[in-house]
Amino acid sequence: MQRRPGFPAKLPGSATTPAGAPSQRSAVLGARPIAAMAVGVGLDSAAVRARMVQKLAAGGVTSPQVLQAMGQVERHRFVDSALGNQAYEDTSLPIGMGQTISKPSIVARMCELLLGAEVARTAGLGRVLEIGTGCGYQAAVLSLLAREVYTLERVRSLHEKARDNLRPFRLANVHLMFGDGMLGYPSGAPYSAIIAAAGGDSVPQAWCDQLAVGGRLVAPMAVAGGQQMLLVIDKSAHGLKQNVLEPVHFVPLKSGIA
Ligand code: SAH
Repeated sequence: MQRRPGFPAKLPGSATTPAGAPSQRSAVLGARPIAAMAVGVGLDSAAVRARMVQKLAAGGVTSPQVLQAMGQVERHRFVDSALGNQAYEDTSLPIGMGQTISKPSIVARMCELLLGAEVARTAGLGRVLEIGTGCGYQAAVLSLLAREVYTLERVRSLHEKARDNLRPFRLANVHLMFGDGMLGYPSGAPYSAIIAAAGGDSVPQAWCDQLAVGGRLVAPMAVAGGQQMLLVIDKSAHGLKQNVLEPVHFVPLKSGIA
């Protein structure tokens, strides 16, 4: 039987802050004592991840925090063992229920955008809301970049899969919730950042309402003609400012639970 070592990312000082607490303390990134461990699936995963990170950097990801986080999270633990040998390729992979784990380059891209939020630049990423937990991979990456991660999944079996996948990582700052992400999660608001891993036709009002002033929302969204584009919305004291970036391909954002 394969041993599943605990993920060495139990962070000092990452105890849960009561939801709704106003403090937005800076996360001391880079000071976290995380050593990647080479484990299982017939590959030296630390070395393969290092190569993936080199490719991400060559592809334009510049944030050292994001590159470090991508190098630390063992992506092969989030996919079926039969797909383990593809885990560090820049490709999305099936996770069951017709859903996919996002490809590393888009996870890195979106995380880098989140770090560009005004509040993140001044005080670090505080609370982050993720819509679409899927297998939990992106939530694990976010846990290394934000103080608290609230993540919502509408498909119960995937919510449970994410819980199983994340358990050995022992990430005290990741809060997994089962529910319809279109409604956001008011108890954790306001959020420094909101990130959606599924694309709809419009941005739910709840997301804008639950975003902090100085916060940033990053989401795939269908524009005229049905093309899905990556959308960035920044909230300031003067209102919301929207930027449409590059085309993307995400699974659909659906309402209700399944
Ligand atoms: N974050 C994942 C990506 C999962 S795919 C990763 O790390 O790779 C997107 C997920 O969004 C799917 O699991 C899908 O079930 C979920 N989803 C779609 N609409 C949703 C909604 N309204 N609320 C919560 N989750 C939703």
